[in-house]
Parts: sequence; C-alpha cells; structure tokens
Amino acid sequence: MSQYDVAIIGSGPGGYVAAIRCAQLGMKTALIEKYSTLGGTCLNVGCIPSKALLSSSHHYEEATKHFEEHGIEIPGEIKVNLEKMIARKQSVVDQTTGGIDFLMKKNNIDVYHGVGSFKDATHITIKGEKEEEIEAKHSIIATGSKPSNLPFINIDKERIITSTEALKLKEVPKHLIIIGGGVIGLELGQVYKRLGAEVTVVEYMDRILPTMDAGLSKELNKVFKKAKCNMMVSHKVQSVERNGDEVVVKAENKKGEVVEFKGDYCLVSVGRRPYTDGLNAEAAGVKLNDRGQVEVNDHLQTSASNIYAIGDVIKGAMLAHKAEEEGVFVAETLAGQKPHIDYNLIPGVVYTWPEVAAVGKTEEELKEAGTKYKVGQFPFRALGRARASGDIDGFVKILADETTDEVLGVHMIGARCADLIAEAVTAMEFRASAEDISRMSHAHPTFAEAIKEAALAATEDRALHV
Ligand code: FAD
Repeated sequence: MSQYDVAIIGSGPGGYVAAIRCAQLGMKTALIEKYSTLGGTCLNVGCIPSKALLSSSHHYEEATKHFEEHGIEIPGEIKVNLEKMIARKQSVVDQTTGGIDFLMKKNNIDVYHGVGSFKDATHITIKGEKEEEIEAKHSIIATGSKPSNLPFINIDKERIITSTEALKLKEVPKHLIIIGGGVIGLELGQVYKRLGAEVTVVEYMDRILPTMDAGLSKELNKVFKKAKCNMMVSHKVQSVERNGDEVVVKAENKKGEVVEFKGDYCLVSVGRRPYTDGLNAEAAGVKLNDRGQVEVNDHLQTSASNIYAIGDVIKGAMLAHKAEEEGVFVAETLAGQKPHIDYNLIPGVVYTWPEVAAVGKTEEELKEAGTKYKVGQFPFRALGRARASGDIDGFVKILADETTDEVLGVHMIGARCADLIAEAVTAMEFRASAEDISRMSHAHPTFAEAIKEAALAATEDRALHV
C-alpha cells in the first residue's frame, strides 16, 4: 500500500494548489480526483468556461453594436456560430486542465483517478477503474460543491438546467428564464442576452447581487435593464414546469400576485451546496454541520485532528481564490508554519460587462456595525481613458474610517474592475488610508485613475476631475 504524508481529495483550485504547496514543502503528496480531468468545478464547469463564453459573446456584442461608432464597417451579416463558440470554450478548458496535469508531474504529485472514501482517519480507498487503498498521515478534504436546487424544481438538464448545462447549450435560447440574480445567473444571462436571447431574471430578494454593496446592485441592474433584460426582483418562485419545449415559471410578487413567465430554457442558479457524497466522512470521525459543510476550526482542521478541509466544502465565500488561499494555508500549517488568511480581504468579482468587484466592508455592513465612515465615489465617465474606449458606465466607491481615514471597503463597477480590485486588496492589506492611495501616482490615462480620484474624494472631497 502506498504511503503519503498528505492525501488530498478533490482537484479543484483548493485541492490542486494545496497539493503543489505540500510538494514544495517536501511532503510526499497524493491527489485524488473522481473525474478524468483535474481542476474541479472552476476549470471544468465554472470560472474558466464561463469567462471564455463571456469573452466570446463580448466580442460579438462589440462587433454588432459598437464597431460602427469606432469607424469599423463589416460588410454582410455578423452571425453567431454557437457550436464553434462552445468548441473554443472547451479547448480553453482542455488546455487549462492539461496545465494542471503538467504541474502535478512537475511537482512529483501522485494523481489517482477515482472516488476517494475514508476507510478510517488514515486510510483512503479509491474507487476508479480499479480499487486501491492508500495510507496518509494527513488528509485534506477539497471536494467542493454542486449546484443547489429548490425542492420543487425538477432539473431535467435539457430545458431546466444548471450552470453546467448552460455552458454547453446547442442553441441560443429564445427566452432564457434565470432563477437567481447572483453572480452565476447574471454572468450566464449576459452571455445569452448578447447572443440574442430574451432574458428574464427572477430574484427572491429585493435586489440582484444581494450580498454585495447595494450601490453595485443598483448600477448593474440599470445596465441589465438598459440591455432590455427583464429584472424581476422580489419574486418568489413557486413552480417550474416543463411542457414539451416550453418552460413555465410561476412566481409570487410583492403584492402577493402570481406572475407567469414562459420561456424555452430555465437556468436554476440559486447557489451551490457543499459536496461530500461518497466521502464516507463519518468513518474518519469528520463531522458535517447542519448545512452539509465539513466543520472546521480556525486552523481549518476538522473534528479528526489529522484531517483538514478547504474551499467550497467548508464555510465562507464559494470562490476559487478563497479555496486556493486555504490550500496554501493548510499546507503551510502542516509544515509547521504559522500562515494567516484575512477573510475580509478576499475580493468578490462579477465578470459581466461592466465588471463588478469589491473587497472589504459594504456600506450596509458598516452601518449595521455602527462604524462611522466617509464615502468617496468617482464615475468612470469622467475619465479620459473610459471615454476613449467608450466604457463609461460605473464608478469606484471607497469607504474609509471617518476618524483614521483607513480604507474599510472598496466597491467598483466598470471596465476592467476585476483586475483593478487588486490595487484595493493590496492597499487594504497594508492598511492604507484613503489619502495614502490618493497620493500614489496612477498612470494616465488608465481606468485605475478612478481609484485615485475616489480616494481623493474620500480623503477630503478633493477629486480633481469632477
Ligand atoms: P471544486 O472546484 O468544486 O473541486 C472539487 C473537486 O473534488 C471536483 O473536481 C470533484 O470531482 C472532486 N471530488 C468530490 N468528491 C470527491 C471524492 N470523494 N473523490 C474524488 N474526488 C472528489 N469562482 C471564482 O472565484 N471566480 C469565478 O469567476 C467563478 N466562476 C464560476 C462560474 C460558475 C459557472 C461556477 C459554477 C462557479 C464559479 N466559481 C467562481 C466558483 C468556483 O468554481 C469554486 O469556488 C471553486 O471551484 C471551489 O474550489 P474547490 O477546490 O473547493 O472545489
């Protein structure tokens, strides 16, 4: 039987990054993955394929709606070839997952393909083409998550679908009804809207992106409405029925009336649930909480002291980079180091266009905590760079402590915000004040100047270009 210092179950961004860091620190490492490709949800059916389709559909929208204003004329009709677009997405996925194979080899990590199940706290059976057993001093559970559902919806994966099917549709829906106005629903909704579908977003809460700063929700809602998406907030879905090729969604609005939406596809994107099927956690003494998450302490250690858990399967934001940080954290803990994660500084991003990105506290959270804060906001439309490319929607908002000027939260919506948020994370990691940011030189003309201007506005209402 092969013996390891550490065995990691699940090869998503949490698991494969943990494996690399463990190997770098000199541990003999095994990685167990039940699917034939590595990379988990993120690489196979999450972050990467959704961004590939967002990019392709963005190009289409630019070509059909914006090229002309730039003086670019394309004779003849511009058409979508969905089959080709999906095939390109798949080749991006294949290249990326292939890259993980390479990294595993490079780091001498043994990869097992099969379902990993605990026999006890130090033995794992792997059921793949053959059945194997390994022994591991330590294990890391990184089994991720699956799409969740509402109890009365029958997801048939043909017309009533999850994000996984939405990433490989064979036709552009005529009318896509999306249940859930969170990140995944909005990103995929924008893809199909751009490609020509009518899109209806049905959200239970009174705003889309309910966990982000309300200012961002409002602005993105405006953008979606301008693109003629039907944004039905405060609607509680009651039933989803399929009649042949038609899907009928009934929802109750604020007035208690039942409203009916008819489409040809319904994307159920109501969140994700932790996944531990087949893991046999009990046999190792690993406890789950009532939400099905693996319970961990501050060291990400489970109720079995030699077993740790990371990523979507535990509490906290369900994000690839959060899972990665936790993978590194556990590897370094096992090596006797004292790593640290500041969960307040894990940025959240929505890859619609304009992009939405945030880090730190929202205004709602600061109000609730009774923290006195200042707000500095700067619109992208006031920037030369934004006008040059025609991306004028959105703003950067900086929230700073009223007394100390320390930056407490940065919320932005606009072109390239997914990348711009890194500056805010760096600044906050070093506990910068708004004035610190405002005194740093930002290249001109760039979208990043909006951060400097918002910081100036937060400092003493000193923005220069509004
Ligand atoms: P996962 O990536 O879910 O990986 C878990 C792996 O464990 C899977 O491969 C699974 O097969 C394997 N596994 C499970 N049980 C066993 C077992 N018993 N034995 C062997 N293997 C097992 N996050 C972002 O940060 N940015 C984004 O842009 C983004 N976009 C997304 C878009 C979509 C459409 C979706 C669905 C998700 C997106 N996410 C995004 C979320 C992101 O994918 C997850 O947060 C991330 O993948 C979690 O990583 P993980 O390592 O915890 O688990």
